[in-house]
Amino acid sequence: MRVDVVTIFPEYLSPLSLSLIGKARGTGLLSVDVHDLRTWTSDVHRTVDDTPYGGGPGMVMRPEPWGQALDALATPSSRLVVPTPVGAPFTQATAHALASSEHLIFACGRYEGIDQRVIDHAAARMPVTEVSLGDYVLFGGEVAVLVIMEAVVRLLPGVLGNADSLAEESHAAGLLEAPVYTKPPVWRDLAVPDILRSGDHGRIARWRRDESLRRTALRRPDMLTGPNAPDLDKADRAV
Ligand code: SAM
Repeated sequence: MRVDVVTIFPEYLSPLSLSLIGKARGTGLLSVDVHDLRTWTSDVHRTVDDTPYGGGPGMVMRPEPWGQALDALATPSSRLVVPTPVGAPFTQATAHALASSEHLIFACGRYEGIDQRVIDHAAARMPVTEVSLGDYVLFGGEVAVLVIMEAVVRLLPGVLGNADSLAEESHAAGLLEAPVYTKPPVWRDLAVPDILRSGDHGRIARWRRDESLRRTALRRPDMLTGPNAPDLDKADRAV
């Protein structure tokens, strides 16, 4: 997968060189280029913003530098991703959809956001995904890009050492994951549930499924319309 990120704060994206994203870049599964939007300005002050038409507080990002950036970076297989509080909520399903793209271009907004014509013009030549991280407002799109990249890159084949982690984690089957434990068996008088040390894989799978359902019902009842009983039974039989 190829990724281009356009921002006025390229250094904000430096974590994209670390940990498993950095490793994926090293193995050639992923290429990432971070670009300074000001490269595509033409005035001496390298201006990227101006006052909003219609009045109001704050500044809006001008369309010209964005237009030139997209002209330079777009290919026939590009998808533009615009983090914005007015976008559709970012979910694991969005991450899967983005993970199947060949080329993602991220546009990081700042100030009051990007002139709407940039998104409208881009949408006429490539797919555009406007996504929100949640119902709150950040200073800019850079942190949103880091979050989206973490969620997307771990879905790319070959990035995770054990692909089973993806099938069993929260949100994979529309549920939250059951509690997890490791050694020692007793810590500060708290014991690991006996069943997890029983070696009975069928019972362990059912315990995890029950805990998963219990946790989801308690914490995220809104998710419980999603799980599909036949799929869950199939997962149990596979153990
Ligand atoms: N005026 C905008 C509004 O009210 O919808 C908020 C602009 S915000 C201060 C600046 C930039 O931060 C946005 O253009 C976007 O790139 C990013 N941003 C802020 N909140 C976000 C969120 N919840 N999800 C994704 N991106 C966000």
